[in-house]
Amino acid sequence: MSKPVLATTSLAGCFGCHMSILDIDERILDLIELVEFNKSPVDDIKTFTKQCDIGLIEGGCCNSENVHVLKDFRKHCKILVSVGECAIMGGLPAMRNGIPIKECLREAYLTGPSVTANTEHIIPNDPELPMMLDKVYPCQEIVKIDYYLPGCPPRADLIWETLVALLRGTEINLPYEVIKFD
Ligand code: SF4
Repeated sequence: MSKPVLATTSLAGCFGCHMSILDIDERILDLIELVEFNKSPVDDIKTFTKQCDIGLIEGGCCNSENVHVLKDFRKHCKILVSVGECAIMGGLPAMRNGIPIKECLREAYLTGPSVTANTEHIIPNDPELPMMLDKVYPCQEIVKIDYYLPGCPPRADLIWETLVALLRGTEINLPYEVIKFD
């Protein structure tokens, strides 16, 4: 019998949520038995090769590429899970939301105290680069999200218990201690 298929991605995240996935430690061996991985930084598959059962999303959307990837995940995954505060509410990167994007770029590339080598005073504008969005958006403002796992990052036990319940189609029963928001 074929295994359920799992995909994961990091949008405007720090990969800390992926580290928390790996924090399930030796249960990673059980996970490999339970699922087949598709597009994910875990296996380095870059594009979807089939429809997936579950997609885990780390990070919100701060640029056009994030939006494209998120919509692609919604198209290819039956169940989409926002993993971590960045995916759920923008997280720390959303601290820039109160500052106009032009001002953020000027500070980062032109006037900030750590800018020393940009002698030509260029704000990167190569067409290969994704466009920055006016602010950082939580995933549910772009596509429908089915489940939310809070934390920065969420505890490995929270990710594991939720994943196993979703894979087995059983009730998600989470003890209070595994849920946190920091
Ligand atoms: S929620 Fe925290 S750990 Fe996860 S991607 Fe955002 S900053 Fe990193």
